[in-house]
Amino acid sequence: MIELRDVRKSYTGAVMALDGVSLSVQAGEMLAIVGPSGSGKSTMLNLIGTLDRATSGTVEIAGLDVDALDDDGLSRLRAQTIGFVFQQFHLAAGVSALDNVADGLLYAGVPLAARRRRALRALERVGLGHRVTHRPHQLSGGERQRVAVARAVVGEPSLLLADEPTGNLDTAAGAAVLSLLRDLHADGTTVVVITHDRDIAAALPRRVQMRDGRIA
Ligand code: ADP
Repeated sequence: MIELRDVRKSYTGAVMALDGVSLSVQAGEMLAIVGPSGSGKSTMLNLIGTLDRATSGTVEIAGLDVDALDDDGLSRLRAQTIGFVFQQFHLAAGVSALDNVADGLLYAGVPLAARRRRALRALERVGLGHRVTHRPHQLSGGERQRVAVARAVVGEPSLLLADEPTGNLDTAAGAAVLSLLRDLHADGTTVVVITHDRDIAAALPRRVQMRDGRIA
């Protein structure tokens, strides 16, 4: 599912955020990426999610060399294969939970009625079938993150990437979101989670420890 070979990423200002990273992740794995702030975790996740390009090295996702794809190819890969969850939820304000999730299918070319049908199913899957007309400000933090998870998985991606998904949540809400990610993993989704939470990391089948832009 994920193959990184000697990947480097430098930002302007000469920061070497990733300094020769190689990583293989099989389809269906679930892993935590851990490490101190600034060690390159988000940079690596953004490269895996094709949100950014490596400075050198190879990034293959679902068997495709990301560097060889044009913008259309990248958009297709993102729309069909990859779902994202972020610490800050990134839901559209003033938009119902249903339409926030339905918008996750905008780039998959699905008509509106079908988008909303599938969004309802995704919200039911995360236990929010009774909150579909609520807007983000009417939801708790944990509920907002569950909406964000529903949006990430409404297109049934085979790869789910989560950057500190429980970072803004209390313990109980964080546990609910993690349990959701585990359910998705049990259903066959490959799940990669950046986390600062030692308990979460310890509970996952595999941990990748980052330090100074390298895998330690
Ligand atoms: P982590 O997720 O582990 O906290 P990051 O991947 O965000 O680490 O950052 C790794 C390094 O790259 C840090 O030194 C950070 O300051 C730098 N960095 C991250 N994003 C950018 C950017 N857009 N421009 C310049 N430097 C960046």
